[in-house]
Amino acid sequence: MIPEEAAQHADTLMIGDAEEAFQEMIADLAAGLLRKEYVGHFPPRLKGLRTRWQIFDNKHYLPLRLTQFSRGCPNNCEFCATGSLYKRTHCCRPVDEVVSELSEQKSPFVFFVDDNITAQPDLAKELFRQLIPLKKRWIGQASLSFTEDPDLMDLMKRSGCAGLVVGFESTDPANLKQMNKNCNMHLDSYAPVIEKIRDIGFQLWAAFLMGYDADDVKSIQRTVQWAIDQKFCFAAFNILCPYPSTPLYAEMQAADRLIYDKWWLDERYHFGDAVFKPARMTPDELTEACFWARRRFNHPVNIIRRAFDFKTNAKDLWSIATYFAYNPLFRRELFKKHGMKLGYHRTTPPDSV
Ligand code: SF4
Repeated sequence: MIPEEAAQHADTLMIGDAEEAFQEMIADLAAGLLRKEYVGHFPPRLKGLRTRWQIFDNKHYLPLRLTQFSRGCPNNCEFCATGSLYKRTHCCRPVDEVVSELSEQKSPFVFFVDDNITAQPDLAKELFRQLIPLKKRWIGQASLSFTEDPDLMDLMKRSGCAGLVVGFESTDPANLKQMNKNCNMHLDSYAPVIEKIRDIGFQLWAAFLMGYDADDVKSIQRTVQWAIDQKFCFAAFNILCPYPSTPLYAEMQAADRLIYDKWWLDERYHFGDAVFKPARMTPDELTEACFWARRRFNHPVNIIRRAFDFKTNAKDLWSIATYFAYNPLFRRELFKKHGMKLGYHRTTPPDSV
């Protein structure tokens, strides 16, 4: 996202998608001809790639396989680093290559790490159609647009979709408009789409973004209660954070709303801190409201309450096991991460080493 900054600390830079250019970089290094900069092809060419899962074996990773069908996203949410990085393009791997790769895997569990796996519904349908015989159980990330296509939802179900990470971001239309969340903006209400998702039985990991201009402490509290009432399997209450090179960052900078010029380099910054001046609360109030939101949603009483949804979280043994395996884990993580400092911090002055 900011190559000129990285260039101050490196002999050479690999910018963009690494395939192709990375091989060239390694060959040049071996020949002693390393250049200052290597740039991946844009948009990325994904044909012929293969995930090398064996390098993760025996390293105590979760018992599921991570892979990718597509990269990028055609939407243009102003806060999103993916949108800025891929400039609204969305590229897919050939369906047969993804399916052949997965068919060789013994593990029945797959996580598609795509930012928006259903962004091209026809290609996604072809993938799901070919996945059906493999009898896998998969989870992925998608924008709410998939709920508008019943055939797509049916193929997702039949191909083994167990759950999805979905960006709701906000329950306030003014916030959705400000963040340019097109895929949610046209919905009059979330209720019918959530009902469709519950009816088909997908567990939801709902993502929220807190701190847009219509938010205050009370609205954040209402959103959390709403999320608990929906019995979402998991939820992420992310503090709005202007990532460098996004339209949001430029906007905040122009309006003089950034507390630190480069929060990611600032010694004062900790994970979970507000880094800008919110419209209707202080930065500290926003920081505390987000931390409270995570604690509240993941409180043991609410974990138990949310479990009792017989269409999703408690619909079968696998869903119950997933629910109770990961909720306590996420609860522990939220305390571990809050207030963490970013990156590597020297504890011994360099001269004394
Ligand atoms: S839909 Fe999701 S991945 Fe796509 S631009 Fe918006 S936030 Fe980013």
